[in-house]
Amino acid sequence: MKPSLLDFTQKELLSQIKPSFRVKQIFGWLYHNYAQNFDEMKNIPKALKDELAQKFIVNPLKIIKKEESSDGTIKYLFELQDGKTIEAVWLKMKEEITDEEGNITQESKYTICVSTQVGCKVGCAFCLTAKGGFTRDLTAGEIVAQVVNLKRDNNHKHNRMINIVYMGMGEPLDNLDNLAKAIEIFKDEEGLCISGKRQTVSTSGLSNKIDKLGELDLGVHIAISLHAVDDKLRTELIPMNKAHNIASIIEAVKRFPIDTRKRVMFEYLVIKNKNDDLLSAKKLVKLLSGIKAKVNLIYFNPYPGTEYERPNRADMIAFQEYLVNHGLLCTIRDSKGIDISAACGQLKEKTQNELK
Ligand code: SAH
Ligand code: SF4
Repeated sequence: MKPSLLDFTQKELLSQIKPSFRVKQIFGWLYHNYAQNFDEMKNIPKALKDELAQKFIVNPLKIIKKEESSDGTIKYLFELQDGKTIEAVWLKMKEEITDEEGNITQESKYTICVSTQVGCKVGCAFCLTAKGGFTRDLTAGEIVAQVVNLKRDNNHKHNRMINIVYMGMGEPLDNLDNLAKAIEIFKDEEGLCISGKRQTVSTSGLSNKIDKLGELDLGVHIAISLHAVDDKLRTELIPMNKAHNIASIIEAVKRFPIDTRKRVMFEYLVIKNKNDDLLSAKKLVKLLSGIKAKVNLIYFNPYPGTEYERPNRADMIAFQEYLVNHGLLCTIRDSKGIDISAACGQLKEKTQNELK
């Protein structure tokens, strides 16, 4: 498998490609024009392109399926060079607003949800990605390419803002080197220029790796997939909680460098009759006291064969109200793309079943 040009920071490309002004041009083709191959790079001499094509490819991903939801969410299934598949999601967060004269006063805002691995080692009981086991880490270029391809496919100009959440398939902190490289490439001001503040790493809670990510000081946000307030239930849901228990995660979060204006997000997957009661809400308030936290309640999204159920709306709202009344910021994640197999891993699973 040849590496992709998207695997490298600009600095790394500068050490491999001469003369250096060509690197700036190539970087422009990659991140401002979203070039898919060398042919598209019009002002690069053919001899250099031929030389590069011996060693590199441009785009490591192929879109093999797209599902569009009525709310503007688009779910993509990509094929990698080795035939494996991953998902990424294009999420519309805010609608475009126009004034009476038809001028745009607020552009629509988008977030891209990207994958970091093919499969996942963590093996959460509720997660469809976990069912297929772990295949391999994504390279930095395969992570970067998800954003490039989604921006290209949606005609989203390079200088329009975008947020990235590492919430697709896989555990980002289990692939920390490639993740960190991808974050750096996204941040390049001559590339996509997506600052750390616009990137959120979601983790199931590898506490030692939360520390490592903090030490890298990339300026990113973290989201912790907490899902339970006691270790017994959390270990049932997320087996590696045995090694990284709730207390160790909370300690690691307290050490994590965060922008003082920002909050740490805690994701809480709500499962009917498992963790949707007010006693859990009460324990959650206690657990997060002293942390500038924001809780995001997520409806469990069922799939065929799962023993878990989606919670009732009324229980969800009561849970939220309890947290809010006790001083915690709390949102309920609206069911974006619920009509298109919303949770991670579900499009892949569906496609595999259809192909069988
Ligand atoms: N591995 C990381 C990031 C990817 S999972 C993590 O676990 O945080 C992203 C989110 O999808 C997690 O918060 C996870 O709990 C959620 N998720 C997984 N399966 C789900 C399901 N069936 N319904 C709703 N959310 C789910
Ligand atoms: Fe992996 Fe996250 Fe799924 Fe758990 S929820 S198995 S950590 S992708």
